[in-house]
Amino acid sequence: MAKIPFPLRKVTKDVARKELEVLERTYPHAVTALNYGNTYELLIAVILSAQCTDARVNMTTSALFKKYPAPEKLAKANQEDVERIIKSCGFFRMKARNIINAARELVEKHGGQVPSDRQELEALAGVGRKTANVVMSVAFQEAAIAVDTHVFRVSHRLGLTLGKTPREVENDLEAIVPREKWRHTSHWLILHGRAICKAPTPLCPQCPVNHLCPTPKIIAKSLGVRSRPDAAAAATRRPARSPSTKKKA
Ligand code: SF4
Repeated sequence: MAKIPFPLRKVTKDVARKELEVLERTYPHAVTALNYGNTYELLIAVILSAQCTDARVNMTTSALFKKYPAPEKLAKANQEDVERIIKSCGFFRMKARNIINAARELVEKHGGQVPSDRQELEALAGVGRKTANVVMSVAFQEAAIAVDTHVFRVSHRLGLTLGKTPREVENDLEAIVPREKWRHTSHWLILHGRAICKAPTPLCPQCPVNHLCPTPKIIAKSLGVRSRPDAAAAATRRPARSPSTKKKA
């Protein structure tokens, strides 16, 4: 089916809060899908997860962390060896360079510890705002909302934001969600995006929040159908030939 357009208007704050309350109830124990044993491993796994699935990252980090169990070891690693281990993650040369450099910076500037401060995190090689937010919220229980591709897409479909950039989406979510729940918010949206509100085809008939979400109406309009259930069913009907399931890099 054609790409589903995002709503042109945000839902009211009241509806937005109700939508997120449903997601919170649906995914009460949501946590990151990345495997890690300590904050150093979490940081490296999140850097590797750019443009890659968490499942794929988990397949490579078991070998990586076995060979390089601490920043001191990774800081001295041979780049080609690291590239070989993480090759299936995509952008492996850049990622290998980044994680080795990040490990060196941890050793040289932070005594081998991962800092909890946003500025210090974002100063590390390969660490942008999203990665910093994941580390802050997961490892240090700080109030931060990480906006990845799932959070961006699901937030738009739910009418929580019209933001054109991850930072704008983050700001809109912060205005809706009570601060003490910021660190859980991305997990609700990521799990919902993986399980139900998939790209490119959301499973609206199965969605616990479809009575509040504006997107089924948009689908109905674009298909010229009247009822929301009909529209949702049409939107989720499989085409005669399945489109290729191209994996993210
Ligand atoms: S109703 Fe459809 S578009 Fe809206 S959140 Fe659920 S699956 Fe996504």
